[in-house]
Amino acid sequence: MNKLTSYTIKEIHKAYRDKLLTPTSFVDLCLQKAKQTSELNAFVTLTEDIAENHGIQSEKRFYIDKNSKPLDGITIGVKDNFCTNNVRTTCASEMLRDFVPTYDATVYSRLRESGACLVGKTNLDEFAMGAGTIDSIFGPTRNPWGYKRNDNSWRIAGGSSGGSAVAVSSGACVAALGSDTGGSTRNPAALCGIVGLKPTYGLVSRYGLIPLVNSMDVPGILTRNIDDAAKILNCIAGPDNLDSTTIKKKFKPVTMKEEFDLTHVRIGIPKEYHCEGMSPEVLDTWRFVTDLLENQKAVIKTVSLPNTSVSIAVYSILNQCEVTSNMARYDGLEYGLRTSEDYSTEELYASTRSQGFNNVVRSRIFSGNYFLLRQNYEKYFIKALQLRRLISDDFKKVFKGDGAVDILLTPTTLTDAPTFEEFSSKHNRDQCAFQDYCTQPANMAGIPALSIPIRLSKNKLPLSLQLMGPNLSEELLLNVAKKIETIVQFPSLESVNLN
Ligand code: GLN
Repeated sequence: MNKLTSYTIKEIHKAYRDKLLTPTSFVDLCLQKAKQTSELNAFVTLTEDIAENHGIQSEKRFYIDKNSKPLDGITIGVKDNFCTNNVRTTCASEMLRDFVPTYDATVYSRLRESGACLVGKTNLDEFAMGAGTIDSIFGPTRNPWGYKRNDNSWRIAGGSSGGSAVAVSSGACVAALGSDTGGSTRNPAALCGIVGLKPTYGLVSRYGLIPLVNSMDVPGILTRNIDDAAKILNCIAGPDNLDSTTIKKKFKPVTMKEEFDLTHVRIGIPKEYHCEGMSPEVLDTWRFVTDLLENQKAVIKTVSLPNTSVSIAVYSILNQCEVTSNMARYDGLEYGLRTSEDYSTEELYASTRSQGFNNVVRSRIFSGNYFLLRQNYEKYFIKALQLRRLISDDFKKVFKGDGAVDILLTPTTLTDAPTFEEFSSKHNRDQCAFQDYCTQPANMAGIPALSIPIRLSKNKLPLSLQLMGPNLSEELLLNVAKKIETIVQFPSLESVNLN
């Protein structure tokens, strides 16, 4: 079983064909693993019956109909902010604790159409606001790396898609969906030693993803290797009539090359990403991979993204403004929590929203309203939009014209996974400002980015790097990442020792 948790989709399918394994038995193994590791708190809801049923359907297609689909018998976790028909979708918030949607998010229905089997809905920071998966009404998610029972020094999983990252890294599923607004897929992937891909904005439908920041949200993909991420992307990407912001052009599936040649690929190292607080180990890992790529004949160039330093402030203003508007729908009237029938309308709004949201959500609504006040609107919101344009233009410039590069290489996070104690002693705003320093700019520019694990730190925790490229450069990013993956041979977490 432990070895199985490190198999690729291709290897699992081969094992099905060779009858060394069947979809139903694999689904059972994953469910067992999820239960065995339940104290990591990766799942909000384990969908056992659904998983078994999906496994049976896959098995029939595999062996009886002989007409299998690309993800048949492949177990998945879905972050609990994607709507799933008849399966509760909570956003880890009191507000939606009992909310059961009547429709599926497009990404989930596409995974299902491809044969994937749903193991469960995964934990997150309330409404995906956070960088640690510690602010959930179901309690924090724990990082499996270095985890020991009854040891208080356990590490955070990263966030906000920490449940999805832990479900994949601990072997409870092969792949998972996260969402990425400022780094929420790449950040937990980095801290849990797996691959996290944030596709180009609009390449993957947001329909059914409960919105945080509509202009930046992208469904993300978490897997244990690059080939699997490419496979999942090929199943979920492409236009969707239900999301008017999806790119209208037909999606051309990405092709993974067995032997990708890095000669002449131009890789930029943005100097502004050498920032305060970056650990020497991260810096060293960044240098190590830069040298490694140079040895493979890639062309390395130092580049500048001059507006990086304002990016955290700009992100935080725009985030809070959109959050304010998005959270207005939770009023106790249509769906979600309703505190009492006896109140006046105003009292009902106030009591529902104060009981339904945690401090983080309430404080973002509060600041967002402040930034949007008539007297502040120009000073904050409009200014932040102008700066966002400059941040986005910085990327356009490095990817075009004289001296251009094809992709950028940076760290994903500034350190390895902090302990829960260390992380939770800081305010949510400071946690995000620190953790998301390298990830948020890609969301503001809408460009694709992925995180790939490289090696272990002195603490025996994953250290990861990020690749970013121009819009729709997923194929190049994935191929370069695969080359790195093949060379560095990052160790897989074979077994989570819970004894
Ligand atoms: N940490 C960031 C925030 O809280 C990003 C969250 C996300 O990507 N969902 O806003």
